[in-house]
Amino acid sequence: MGKAAVVVVAGVAIVCAAAACAAAAVVVSSRMRVRSQRRHARNVLQEFQEACSTPLPRLRQVVDAMAVEMHAGLVSEGGSRLKMLPTFVDRLPHGDEKGLYYAVDLGGTNFRVLRVQLGGKQGRVIKQEYEEVAIPPELMIGSSEELFDFIAKELSSFVAREGDGFRPVAGQSREIGFTFSFPVQQTALNSGTLLNWTKGFKVVDAIGQDVVAALQTCIRKRGHEMRIAALVNDTVGTLAGGRYWNEDVMIAVILGTGTNAAYVERAQAISKCGNVLPKSGQMVINMEWGNFWSSHLPRTQADEALDNETMNPGEQGFEKMISGMYLGDVVRRVLLKMAQEAALFGPNVPRKMLEAFSLGTPDMSKMHADESSDLKVVGNVLRDVYGIENTSLAVRKIVYEVCDTVAERGARLAAAGIVGILKKIGRDGTHSKWKVASEQNHVNGWEEVGSPVASECGKTVVAMDGGLYERYSKFRAYMQAAVVELLGDASKDVVVELSKDGSGIGAALLAASVSQNGRK
Ligand code: ADP
Ligand code: MG
Repeated sequence: MGKAAVVVVAGVAIVCAAAACAAAAVVVSSRMRVRSQRRHARNVLQEFQEACSTPLPRLRQVVDAMAVEMHAGLVSEGGSRLKMLPTFVDRLPHGDEKGLYYAVDLGGTNFRVLRVQLGGKQGRVIKQEYEEVAIPPELMIGSSEELFDFIAKELSSFVAREGDGFRPVAGQSREIGFTFSFPVQQTALNSGTLLNWTKGFKVVDAIGQDVVAALQTCIRKRGHEMRIAALVNDTVGTLAGGRYWNEDVMIAVILGTGTNAAYVERAQAISKCGNVLPKSGQMVINMEWGNFWSSHLPRTQADEALDNETMNPGEQGFEKMISGMYLGDVVRRVLLKMAQEAALFGPNVPRKMLEAFSLGTPDMSKMHADESSDLKVVGNVLRDVYGIENTSLAVRKIVYEVCDTVAERGARLAAAGIVGILKKIGRDGTHSKWKVASEQNHVNGWEEVGSPVASECGKTVVAMDGGLYERYSKFRAYMQAAVVELLGDASKDVVVELSKDGSGIGAALLAASVSQNGRK
């Protein structure tokens, strides 16, 4: 080999060694980079967990704030972010109602018609039937007459198919409970003015109208002698449905797409009603609690960003931390931050993750329910929703932790809201029995309507409904545990239970309990 060739070989060897060193350096540095990114992601997680934390003292502050805001909302119109709407429901079903009643339930893209034959304490619900009809999209943005006429037409054809087992009272009109889950200012049990539409409806000429009168007119035009006896929202329907089966039900909470609560209040506590107090001594209040706010709520940057990008910034703050429409999106925002700042899912941010609401709460709960040792379901959801392939277990663990943090915070805040209501009505165990009994004995007719005073009744039942509560088991478990944690010993007297689909039948039961027929 000539001298020149030796030099070339040596040169090649040097180049190869350098390349190998460089490759090794790249591997080491990329490992280091991944490690440092993972560390960064963990820091983001830890910071988020701290910002979301709801230790007992903080939860108690939320409980107190809820009770204070409830009080303020009852004293004057606009006194609180809680509207605390009087519903004029001063009598709840007992179980002894009899006869045939109808309900119409309009609260979203579907509406339902329902009939129920009630047989009193013994027979209870003898028979019930319902039908669900999609509202044609053009009617959601059309005229008031078209919308209510469509509802009247569907109701009319449902009535025409009234079969065996349903017996209207001879010579009396059929009565209807109308569940209408849009913001309404009620002026009586069976009248209320539509304040504004939500959920994609935009029937402009209906705003400011009495929705009961509008539907009643369309029903009459079709030649039916049916009377709308009660106008309620879904929360009040759930309360009525729960009370029908269990006289200890005092509170109803819906945790679905949105959230709201209703409860039985002493009439005298509703100062803003002045002298128009119901004789029964009690009234159901529709809290519209989704709009609750308190500086004690643990708000994060993700919540602020979410709020700013919604159609109603600054409103429904509580709802945005606890309800099904938003929980998944809070998770998405934290994951997006980790993707952008710490390349959690690789060098590129998954494009779809930039899209608001691309992670639904059902996806979140699916990941959170993953009990497998390798968090396979978490990996599958990330792949199916965002096209992220081959995530490591460390990444899947971080994603799981984010879901857990958001669900736990929402559930504990919902629990604090419930305990706030219990506190307001003297059933959180902090009032002396003597005080509660003596306060309530001042109220005429309290016993008459079948609500035992706290010191005697023992139990207070909270009727829960809504897809989030029903289907997200870890959320439910966190919520129930927090209620127990907050109430301590008094928790033995409080039952939080699922009361499925009270909102439809509840309106029919309310119609029965207020109607002349039903009290016979
Ligand atoms: P709505 O509140 O619209 O009347 P639902 O009470 O049925 O209807 O609640 C539906 C909501 O419940 C959905 O928008 C979703 O946020 C939530 N949800 C449904 N299924 C699940 C699930 N498996 N896990 C968690 N949340 C769910
Ligand atoms: Mg609903």
